Amino acid sequence: MTTLRSFAEMETMHRACSIVVETLALLAEHTKPGITTKELDLIAAENLRKRGAKPAFLGYHGFPATLCASVNDEVVHGIPGKRVLLEGDIIGLDFGAIVDGYYGDAARTVAVGNVSPAAERLMKVTEESLHRAIETAYPGKRLGDLGHAVESHAVKHGYTVVRELSGHGIGRNLHEDPQVPNYGPPGKRARLEAGMCLAIEPMVNEGAAATRTLPDKWTVVTEDKSLSAHYELTIAVTEHGPWVLSEPYPFAQSVRHA
Ligand code: MG
Repeated sequence: MTTLRSFAEMETMHRACSIVVETLALLAEHTKPGITTKELDLIAAENLRKRGAKPAFLGYHGFPATLCASVNDEVVHGIPGKRVLLEGDIIGLDFGAIVDGYYGDAARTVAVGNVSPAAERLMKVTEESLHRAIETAYPGKRLGDLGHAVESHAVKHGYTVVRELSGHGIGRNLHEDPQVPNYGPPGKRARLEAGMCLAIEPMVNEGAAATRTLPDKWTVVTEDKSLSAHYELTIAVTEHGPWVLSEPYPFAQSVRHA
């Protein structure tokens, strides 16, 4: 059952999402060869505390950290620890924040020092695929249209999308209905409506789509050990089109309550 959110609720989520994206930018600045994933986790936790937000992932089904830090062939849900980042690694940084009971969730993949052109290209195409989906998020479109936007862009560049994990509705909980798969077919699944708030999060692999979960029960890796990239933003579907909730309201103020 998908809950539709009011404009006031979206504004609260906008505050949560802005803190997440600001913190991701801070983490990106600190992502250099020699830093550990645990140090990045502590920076995220400290910035959330300073900004008066609560971590959304810490303790979620027992997850032990503020940040998910997923390196190279790790797709998502990597647990921060003693791992030292090396020149040429790529790292997916993913976390959520809670402000006044509402959630924001976002992720980006960051280069550690200089990375290969192949890694750069994978990150670029994955981020583009997220934006293709966001541009599709108008009332009347279907969830399959969003997934198709991601998948078709990734496949066109020779990549695959992860199918075992999806984006999700978000609001008073981190994960709400509906699921937001990163594949089509277009024209299928639930119709988008104004008031839906969705975390869209393509996970794109350089090799095959198949993944497995490590014995730590969290870290998802590519089965063939190929590189994987992950980008995520939380959006609200409004009557006028998509609002990326970490950005200012993009439509004329005069129509905001329409
Ligand atoms: Mg998410």
